[in-house]
This record gives sequence, structure tokens and C-alpha cells, in this order.
Amino acid sequence: MQPLQAASLPPRIESQNAGPNGHTFDGHHKGDITGVSLDEKAFKVNELRLLSLQIEQLLTANRRKDEFLAILSHELRSPLASIQYGIGVLRGPSGEDVTVRRGMHELIERQVRQVTLLAAGLLDVGRITSGHLQVQLVQIDLRSILVRAIETLEPDFKGRDQEFVSTWTATSVSVMADASRLEQVFVNLLANASKYTDAGGQISLSLSVDDGRPIVRIKDSGIGIAAHALSNIFDLYVQADATAARSRSGLGIGLALVRSIVQLHGGSVIAKSAGPGQGSEFIVSLPARA
Ligand code: ADP
Repeated sequence: MQPLQAASLPPRIESQNAGPNGHTFDGHHKGDITGVSLDEKAFKVNELRLLSLQIEQLLTANRRKDEFLAILSHELRSPLASIQYGIGVLRGPSGEDVTVRRGMHELIERQVRQVTLLAAGLLDVGRITSGHLQVQLVQIDLRSILVRAIETLEPDFKGRDQEFVSTWTATSVSVMADASRLEQVFVNLLANASKYTDAGGQISLSLSVDDGRPIVRIKDSGIGIAAHALSNIFDLYVQADATAARSRSGLGIGLALVRSIVQLHGGSVIAKSAGPGQGSEFIVSLPARA
């Protein structure tokens, strides 16, 4: 949601020679019997309409935040419960067994990583809302960033038996980027592609250059996105399909972060989908090098 700004109100309508309440000084009364001019009335009606729209937006934002907190507490509880379970096993008699011990250590490590990621995500939300998200741009080959993002997601693709294909130009694609932040963009988009695609589905990533502008397309054959949801999918805490998101561990912050980071690079990101069940495509365009 856009921050509310006084500037978003329409300019005040002033009639020439109008005094308070729109009475004109030449003795001609422009208003009705209530003494309020028609201009003034139109302005007030418009102002009220805008105010009610803004209240509606605030209520929606507040509701989304409440839902987010409920989801967050659930997302925190499940790794913590797993960690507690792992510690219990390690303390018990089966904790003596080397294989069981290794298994529990791995479980605890995975869950600690999950909580760490959640904490990092929350920090980033704070940075987005306070406008303190920053990038430090250096010249880098975009392909190296994509390779790292793909490596991060490879275990997910394998684990879900998803086919992953990448295509890009042989020559380097130089960009001014904050490597770790831009990697975060592609990790988020690839993670979503995998998360919202059932086992056995297809995911692809392509890099091309159009008129000097690097374009990265991440496409999946997954659950797709309804047309009405496409317009606000990049807003904080928005989940197009709450049931699907909840069953797939979603917090509704990834795409907001993607958009903020891409914009800080002077680029843009859009989402496309032919509808539920039809797969989705996310297209990131970065500025051409001067
Ligand atoms: P979440 O943590 O819920 O996945 P995101 O901000 O990353 O949050 O995404 C917002 C919402 O956009 C998701 O809840 C999901 O409904 C939708 N979405 C994102 N990526 C995809 C995708 N590849 N396919 C289908 N839906 C998607």
C-alpha cells in the first residue's frame, strides 16, 4: 500500500472572489440555502470519498499485518518444536546411537537455519517499511549471481523431483549490482517457483539482453496466479492464495523484498500468469549499462 500523503488529496477548489463558505463579495450567492457553495460541497464530497478510501486501505493493511503475525507465530513454532524434539531424542537413551545422533544434529541444524532465515526476513521487512533498505552497487557479471542462486535452490528442485532448465548468452552480462541482494531476488523467485509447483513440474530460468537491458525470466508450470491477484502480489504481506501459501510455508514478504531490491537497482519486475493451474512467470528487467 502506498503511504498516505497529504499530497494525494486533490487541490482545494477556490472560486474567484470567494469568501468563507464560498460566498462571493459581489453580493451574488453561489451556494444553496445552507449557505455552503456548490464548489465547497463538491470538494467536501470528494474529500470524504478519499478519506473513506484511505481508511479502507488502512484497515486492509492492518488486517494483513494481523494475519502476518498469526502466520509468523505458526512459522516460528514448528521449527522450534522440531528443535525441542531433537534435543529430547539426544538426551534420551536413543541419543547414544551414532546414526540417531547424526540425524538429530542435521534436523536441529536445518530448523535453526529456518529460524535464522525468518529473522533475516523480518529484519528486511523493517528495512523496507522504514525505507532503510540499501544496496552497494559494483560491476559484476549477472551470470555469476544467477549461478549462485540456482545452486542454492538445486536441492529443492531435486527434493521435489522438478525439472530445472536454464538458458543464457555465452558472453558475460555486466551489471551494476549489489551481488548478495540481487542473488536474494533470484533465490526468492526460484524458491517460489519450486514452492508453488507440484512434484514433477518444470521450472526454467533464462537470461537475455534486449536493447542493452538484461532480462531474467523465471517460469514455472505450477499453481498459477488468478488475474485479480496479479496487481498487488508484490505488496507486503499479500498472499494470492492464502491456503496454498500456508501449506507451503509462506510469510508474504518475499515478493515485496524482490520488488524493493530490483527498484533499488533501477530495474523493474512483473508477474504473469494465465490463471490458476496455468503456471507463472516473473520477469526482472535491469537497466542497460551506460
Ligand atoms: P510467500 O512467503 O507467501 O510465498 P511471497 O511474497 O514470496 O510470499 O509471494 C506472495 C504470494 O504470491 C504467495 O503467497 C503466492 O500466493 C504468490 N506467488 C508467488 N510466487 C508464485 C509462483 N511462482 N506461483 C504461484 N504463486 C506465487
